[in-house]
Amino acid sequence: MTSNNLHYHNDFPYFFNSNACVACRGKCCRGQRGYIWLSREELQEMAKARSISLNAFARQYVRQVNGQLSLKERVMNNEHLCCFLDPVDHCCTIYNYRPEQCRTFPFWKEFKDDPESISLACPGVSLL
Ligand code: SF4
Ligand code: SF4
Repeated sequence: MTSNNLHYHNDFPYFFNSNACVACRGKCCRGQRGYIWLSREELQEMAKARSISLNAFARQYVRQVNGQLSLKERVMNNEHLCCFLDPVDHCCTIYNYRPEQCRTFPFWKEFKDDPESISLACPGVSLL
């Protein structure tokens, strides 16, 4: 459920205020090395959005990890940044085509039973 910038999910013990993202500067898109998983369908959509071939897109932006696809990162100021995070304004440069992993954050299954950890990691999260 969404009301203006407040987002709720029935079975999650917290809500998310997307207004917090402006001041936060993309904390969830940078930090320690991680994985930004994407499906082959998402890869196709992202390549189409960038008007480049699937192969060229994959070469430039995607790495394989144990047979799965993850977006590449780059290192700046000792942080790993998703390759689609603008390092100046900290916005996602492929926002409308970002993978489901990004679309569903911070409502990930693993946080449902561990709301304290996500409330510490994401300034937009408030416990109910
Ligand atoms: S960590 Fe939370 S508040 Fe910050 S950009 Fe990500 S979703 Fe927004
Ligand atoms: S695709 Fe966009 S939303 Fe997802 S991690 Fe990269 S910059 Fe963040």
